[in-house]
Amino acid sequence: MTSLARPAPSGSGYPHVQMHIGGKWTDGTSGRTWPITNPATEEVLGEVPLASTADLDDAVEAAVRGFRMWSGTPVAERTQILYRASDLLVERSADIGRVMTLEEGKPLGEARGEVSRVAASLRWHADDARRAYGRIIPSAADRVVTVRREPIGPVAAFTPWNFPAGGPMRKISAALSAGCSIVIKASEETPGTACEIVQCFEDAGLPPDVLNLVFGDPPEVSSHLIPAPDIRLVAFTGSVPVGKLLAAAAGAEMKPALMELGGHAPVIVCADADPRVAARRSAAAKYVNAGQVCTSPSRFFVHESLHDAFVDELVDASEAVPVGDGLVEGTKMGPLANPRRLVAMEHFVTDAVERGATIRCGGRRLDRPGYFFAPTVLTEVSLESEMMITEPFGPVAPVVPFADLDDAVTMANSLPYGLAAYGFTESASTAERLVQGFEAGILSINHCGGSIHEAPSGGVKDSGYGREGGPEGLDAYMATKRVVHLLGD
Ligand code: NAD
Repeated sequence: MTSLARPAPSGSGYPHVQMHIGGKWTDGTSGRTWPITNPATEEVLGEVPLASTADLDDAVEAAVRGFRMWSGTPVAERTQILYRASDLLVERSADIGRVMTLEEGKPLGEARGEVSRVAASLRWHADDARRAYGRIIPSAADRVVTVRREPIGPVAAFTPWNFPAGGPMRKISAALSAGCSIVIKASEETPGTACEIVQCFEDAGLPPDVLNLVFGDPPEVSSHLIPAPDIRLVAFTGSVPVGKLLAAAAGAEMKPALMELGGHAPVIVCADADPRVAARRSAAAKYVNAGQVCTSPSRFFVHESLHDAFVDELVDASEAVPVGDGLVEGTKMGPLANPRRLVAMEHFVTDAVERGATIRCGGRRLDRPGYFFAPTVLTEVSLESEMMITEPFGPVAPVVPFADLDDAVTMANSLPYGLAAYGFTESASTAERLVQGFEAGILSINHCGGSIHEAPSGGVKDSGYGREGGPEGLDAYMATKRVVHLLGD
């Protein structure tokens, strides 16, 4: 049994979902709500309130007050509060993980691991903010030239449903560590995790007004928050089409933006790789969060000499994945997070088969309630298939053979995406050829990644701009100020 920090009055085991504006939990003033659904059972878990424009104005006003106060708080004091919040996230990770599984579907172990990771990442960012040094520039004797880094101001952030803790916490950790306040619109599909996270900050002693959580109709919220004059940075994680809309809206207001968008990660398995190891490691990454990860390996280019061995092993590994309700012990892959993804998977597979692909395993939804789709491997996939062009965001693995490594790199780089890319090879020089050849912001050799808060993540090309994590992670949240101080008369 769980003891949620924000239990619902119904005692359903799911939190009481509200917005948090100006230090107070509120249903807002619109009277509108949307249902929250458990993707494993299709049962309604609760209702999420939707903000009115007046609620959003209140959130921005609060963030302005919060910024004034928080940016003036000594960094050592800020760090102590963020440490406490990190500790509370760890203490409550089992309960928060359960909420995440209920609303998003991922297996409990994955969900709890995500909460522990965001707690560690918060601590890392809080420490890093203590080293957000400026510099003194050598100059003439009559002047002192300094460069300072200051928090940029109130941030408007928008995060998706696939990482209900990871998405919001990447923005919150960097913003609060840098000394910014934030208005965050977390996903309406996974709001319970966001509420539990905000409660941790409140219980850790974060002053009211610094962290404001809203929900609402996404275009209504972004079109109101982005032009709000007091908002100084727009931070978004989500799909490329929505990212382009929000980046344009930010650009129209001359506001900087941080865009963490989708990818369609190629995996190149070179002729000298072990095809079985490559297949097993690919499968281990492919079905994390049922493939709904922006860095998920999603196009497999395998040297023709290894193709059959790789496919056999990938099919075996895919068929062995225990699929089910994430709350059931032993489940390794849960349902898709919403019915839109199920429809998309069915469409991708039908389209690929119509263009000549062979389904080697899966390829269909499971005959049970919930949005379950079987782990799927396809071969003889045309490069013109939609799943080879559009980010699939689901548990499908198309495999394409290649003869020449340069052709494989060309195919890998042929899409507008540039987020993650993976290579398998035993040769250091081939690995270096891949590292230099891939057009992507996140590369892994001989494995398929995983998030690391000590190092920057982000894309090139349509996958966005700016970086989250690592020392670069604070850059977007800080403004640089040059000061020339003339001495004497
Ligand atoms: P979507 O493009 O409609 O939404 C993606 C996210 O953006 C959602 O959280 C949504 O609430 C938000 N959003 C949508 N319109 C918005 C607006 N005008 N203003 C502010 N926020 C807005 O798609 P979806 O059905 O939720 O997800 C499907 C696609 O999104 C996937 O195919 C995948 O490509 C992409 N996606 C990417 C990531 C990522 O981490 N890069 C995360 C989730 C979804």
